[in-house]
Amino acid sequence: MTGRPRFDLVHHPHKRGLSPASHQLDFHCANGTAQLTTFCSLAELAANRALSRITAAIRFRRPIQVTFNITSFCANSTSADPSHCLQSSKTLGLASPTKWYSWDHHTTDTVAAGIDVDYVYPSALAKQLLAQDPGGPANDGDIAAVFNSDCNWLMKDHDGRIYRSLALLNRTNQAGTCSDSTVSYDLEQIVLHELIHGLGFLSSWYPWLGNASVLLPSQPIMSSNHAAYIGLTKPYIFNKWMATVDGQWLRRYELAILRASDAAAQTSAGPDRTSETWMDAFMASPGRVLAEKMMSNYGTRPGRLVVWFNDTETRRGRYARLFASSQFLDGSTLSHIDASSYQGTAEFLMRPYATGNVLLDDYIPRGRRGPIGRIALSILATMGYPIAM
Ligand SMILES: [Zn+2]
Repeated sequence: MTGRPRFDLVHHPHKRGLSPASHQLDFHCANGTAQLTTFCSLAELAANRALSRITAAIRFRRPIQVTFNITSFCANSTSADPSHCLQSSKTLGLASPTKWYSWDHHTTDTVAAGIDVDYVYPSALAKQLLAQDPGGPANDGDIAAVFNSDCNWLMKDHDGRIYRSLALLNRTNQAGTCSDSTVSYDLEQIVLHELIHGLGFLSSWYPWLGNASVLLPSQPIMSSNHAAYIGLTKPYIFNKWMATVDGQWLRRYELAILRASDAAAQTSAGPDRTSETWMDAFMASPGRVLAEKMMSNYGTRPGRLVVWFNDTETRRGRYARLFASSQFLDGSTLSHIDASSYQGTAEFLMRPYATGNVLLDDYIPRGRRGPIGRIALSILATMGYPIAM
């Protein structure tokens, strides 16, 4: 499956949203030349259509703010190596929450909101749950999304006419190939997929130390002077409902690794602490053994992990299989539902691979849930989003 275009996730700078609505879209397109006018207006239309599908499915109590950029990943690549450009251009789009919130202790507000203080919450969700918007009046964006203008996009105008982006831009995709020229992707599909990641559909189980055999539940955190790692942050809220297919919550493993991380922080604290001290202490601890077991038994074994959710229709607990392959794929593994189990089903949207050569409007299952799918919506509801019934 390597070499196929896939979604990826990065942190990205953001700007303030602009207009009052259930969503605020801050839209930026490749550049302002006249040649791109049609391309950019169709891209903006696709972004607004995707956002409308989200605001039809979720009853946001406070508007979410989205920064959207569509630009050439190839032209923006800073590497002198042309193959890097080809690699970077295989990515269709990327998105993530711009901010995460966490609470040290419960307050009246967090208890009322059902917040679990052992996890971090994306700002799009935190502002729905709390009486007071944690971002405050200067809230500067909830989701940052960026899309690759090198790809062969399908886009649709107000009258339903279909356009191919490469024809609009008067070029082929031979240089900076995003996908092979026979496959086009509906921009709206990819935007919708990425926005759902931006809402927090995202696991923080990841080889954060750059060591491919060590799977950590959350990101290491630096000391305030950036001199040393001092432990691990809290995991993303999505992690809370992850479990093994044979019925064990990953929370148990998460807690054990976090405890080992805290112990390593204590033994390595002191004035001589360097960037390696916590790492050395953690790697000598039982936490490392467990983190290696997590990678070998789960992170690189397809079909072993699931995510539980409260089904929005039956109100019963169910689970969905999470995506994993024999190699840990950054940005894909564990942050999507399984690629093969859900291919061609109503749940296709949150697979790790895009569905090509079809418009979202033509691929929507006949059910009333629309393209987001019952599983993804139920997962968002379980995290705390108010889903429209
Ligand atoms: Zn994705």
